[in-house]
Amino acid sequence: MGSESSNLKICFACATIYEGSGSQFLVCPNCGHKVSIEQYESILQDARDAMYFGWIYRLQYEHDLAEKGAINTHYYLAECEEIFNFIALAAVSGIVGNLAYDVIKKVIGSIADFVKQRGSQEENRKIFALIHDEEKMDKFLQYIDEYYTCFDDINEEVRNAILEEMIVDKVSSTLEQIIMAKNPDLEIDKIKEISPFSQEELFKGMIEVRRGEVRKDIERRKKLNGTAFQDFWSNMDERP
Ligand SMILES: [Zn+2]
Repeated sequence: MGSESSNLKICFACATIYEGSGSQFLVCPNCGHKVSIEQYESILQDARDAMYFGWIYRLQYEHDLAEKGAINTHYYLAECEEIFNFIALAAVSGIVGNLAYDVIKKVIGSIADFVKQRGSQEENRKIFALIHDEEKMDKFLQYIDEYYTCFDDINEEVRNAILEEMIVDKVSSTLEQIIMAKNPDLEIDKIKEISPFSQEELFKGMIEVRRGEVRKDIERRKKLNGTAFQDFWSNMDERP
């Protein structure tokens, strides 16, 4: 699958995974459930962030802290395959949407079936290493949960390192947007080439200006509330 899997979508009602594109709506080929692309993306993005910052980065920093006694390396960790984000979505729907654990397990089981049939060997290995290891899966659910409680219970050094990553992530994606909005005709790559400042210096300056603002955004990430998941997984019985 790899990069061709970027069009994979999951139905919020019956958990069917399908190739889906469109400009306004996604319609599930199995149960007919319809969702606007905008809503789909906003919910999925939340799951992706929970996966990326709440699980991947946290594991890395906890590992560094245990190994070296301090966190002094910052990373650009690769984001994961969309299939993993579907598992995070199942977890988030249970945690934020308060859905029963039995239903969540069914959803994860259905994602696993898809991977078994269609996934690459690598995806199979990675997904099953997570979901077939009960201890690891419990830890995963706990970490996703703690992402939403703003990491209250985690080591302060790890928390600060993750928040820093979240700030940089938000700031660097807004940097280009801000420059482009003010100068729509600019070719951003050319600017970077001719700028007397390195990209890093540009980012640093921008980060200082935006830091306060972005931190507030991040602290507001509880924006997603339970009602967003009201109808989730309501067609699980319609699966083939
Ligand atoms: Zn469906």
